[in-house]
Amino acid sequence: MELSAHGAPLRAVARPVPEPGPGEVRVRVQACGVCGSDVFLQDGGFASSPLPIVPGHEAAGVVDALGDGVDDLPVGTAVALYYISTPPGDAWAAAGVPNRSPAVRRMGVDVDGAFAEYVLRPRASVIVPPAHLPAPELAVITDAVATPLHALRRIARLVAGETVAIIGIGGLGSNAVQLTRAYGATAIAISRSQPKLDLALQLGAEHALRSDDDTVANVRALTGGLGADIVLQCADSVAAYEMAISLAGPGGRIVLVGSSAESFRVPPMQMIWSELSLLGSRGFVQADIEEAIQLRLDGRIAVDHLVETIRPLEQAQNALDDLRAGLALRTVLVP
Ligand SMILES: [Zn+2]
Repeated sequence: MELSAHGAPLRAVARPVPEPGPGEVRVRVQACGVCGSDVFLQDGGFASSPLPIVPGHEAAGVVDALGDGVDDLPVGTAVALYYISTPPGDAWAAAGVPNRSPAVRRMGVDVDGAFAEYVLRPRASVIVPPAHLPAPELAVITDAVATPLHALRRIARLVAGETVAIIGIGGLGSNAVQLTRAYGATAIAISRSQPKLDLALQLGAEHALRSDDDTVANVRALTGGLGADIVLQCADSVAAYEMAISLAGPGGRIVLVGSSAESFRVPPMQMIWSELSLLGSRGFVQADIEEAIQLRLDGRIAVDHLVETIRPLEQAQNALDDLRAGLALRTVLVP
């Protein structure tokens, strides 16, 4: 499925099966999640993205063919894909943060992705899970779980016993709730939607608050008047960004995960007096996926709520429309 112009609907195109180059692996896609970044891509949010492009960045499948120099991955191996690659010798990748590299190449954004029957990946971006998981689960773990895991663990440096306020209970926020719980911390879920708050409670949120004028006061009441240690902002609204700062207690870390192109106001005195940190979290690194897979294998998180809606690949546009309309947390496309 191809995006030929920003704002245009995805359309099916026939292309030859791609041949893996040196160091590359051809993967037969078995499942690819559809997420908010795909909507962002279609709307023209990634200005540098070439067109036409095949979207799709959260995928799992089976090794189908190997390029020269790849000899440690038998054909038929079930794999998950890391959507980022970097050029050889990249300093950011060497430092363990390929997601920050100015030369980052993102599957489904900068190079063709997995809304397709086959996708090519560098060997280094192919992950072999330690035990079997169904492909749709594996696919959504690579982004919908890995993104909030990265934000909580690597960016906010969550430790057990802390309180995390999570704004926006969608594909990312819902998993932030379960991860917070899995890491021994307390989750306060905040959403405008009662069904999403119910989901958050099922996934282990200690408290679920309707987002309204009283949210700041309510979070303070739940935290001994202080505010949260971490605020994870996953909602797409300027008001949510500004509320996120107000929800943080002394020494609080506010992590921005949702992608809003609009600007918001930051109150400097509050930032200074409470020594708040305002942090951005971009995607994830490969180790985050590996940790997320292990948490799933250990039964410490569930992903059933992300794989409820499976659609054939040809319905990729319907899946994006559902996401825009707020009808589905995640859809998984199956070729
Ligand atoms: Zn995504």
